[in-house]
Amino acid sequence: MSTKWDNDEEIQRFREYLKIPSVHPDIDYNDCVKFLKKQARELDLPVAVYELVARKPVVVITWEGVHKQLPSILLNSHMDVVPVYEEHWTHPPFAAVISKDGLIYARGVQDMKCIGMMHLEAVRRLKNAGVRLKRTVHISFVPDEEIGGVDGMRAFAASKEFKKLNIGFELDESGPNPKPNEIYVFYGERTSRQIVVTCRGEPGHGSLLIAGGARTAGEKLHYIIDKFMTLRAQEKKKVDEGTWFGDVTTINLTQIEGGIQINVLPEKLSVSFDIRIAADIDHEEFENMISRWCKEAGDDVTFEYVVKNPQIKSTILNDKLTFWTALEKAVNDMGFTINPVICPGATDARYVRQQGIPAINFSPLVSSPLLAHAHDECLHVDVYKKGIDIMERAVQAVANVPN
Ligand code: ZN
Repeated sequence: MSTKWDNDEEIQRFREYLKIPSVHPDIDYNDCVKFLKKQARELDLPVAVYELVARKPVVVITWEGVHKQLPSILLNSHMDVVPVYEEHWTHPPFAAVISKDGLIYARGVQDMKCIGMMHLEAVRRLKNAGVRLKRTVHISFVPDEEIGGVDGMRAFAASKEFKKLNIGFELDESGPNPKPNEIYVFYGERTSRQIVVTCRGEPGHGSLLIAGGARTAGEKLHYIIDKFMTLRAQEKKKVDEGTWFGDVTTINLTQIEGGIQINVLPEKLSVSFDIRIAADIDHEEFENMISRWCKEAGDDVTFEYVVKNPQIKSTILNDKLTFWTALEKAVNDMGFTINPVICPGATDARYVRQQGIPAINFSPLVSSPLLAHAHDECLHVDVYKKGIDIMERAVQAVANVPN
């Protein structure tokens, strides 16, 4: 099917990238690397491929700035996409079909091949216009973000190769905004904690009501669940009253285990919670609270972490961060507003922030519902083109910050 975008090179390059099935599990990144090398060649820019972990390449295309001694700008995106249930798609997920009304259907069209290509197209436009930027710009494409980034950005951000790039500021992914004139940026993330609380008690006959102070495992479990679920209800109320859900602590009871037979008091019961701690919560206090609940529940109540991610400081958005003020001004000058929020999920930017580098998640996608990871992930051609316009100004602004 031919469309009016057949001769639009920006759209055709985007479609070419979308057609590469860099989909989990067990991704072969070779075709992505080949495609990106071709982009670098066309841009006449040097490209480096770092393979810190075998079969997990990190591709970095570099555009040197006039003042190359200044800390550089990193424009980061991930190459991988999440799996699909192909039978639920209107168009095949790796064909990048454009519908009559201009929607591009593809896995990764929102999350986040669009942003990686916007980074490249912004640089292409600036370079073709003869612009020279003050700071060096590195455009990175990393693997494995969708499975936690351990062999991707986490390894890369901690490497000596990364240090050599002398990065002063990073742009990464946020998400689309359904409003026509507002762009989301993320400046921080919550912290994942997954814990198992184990409650032990004396076994006995199911017909007994043990008198006195000794509690059964069931009574202890009841106390623990009540504490967590009460806190959950308080946080849920905040969301019901309009608080952004990235700004609250989310708690979900996910597993309960234990018991041996229905008429035997169990020796052990355990309950698991998936917790995302809000960015402004003191982690030590939070942990002390859980310890206190376990003590209050009775003897032999313990907890352990399955996941205990470190707290990573948010990027502070104020006048001191001139990259932020430059970005905000560039976006405002184009008639868009920025809504800065805490990311409800997790992105690779956390590993960059962990290195002490300010990072802002910036996806200039307006008038679009969030379809990341959904069936029929799609994005309008006009939204993508507008995104390149905004990205071009944004990159120019942050890479020209004088000091
Ligand atoms: Zn993503």
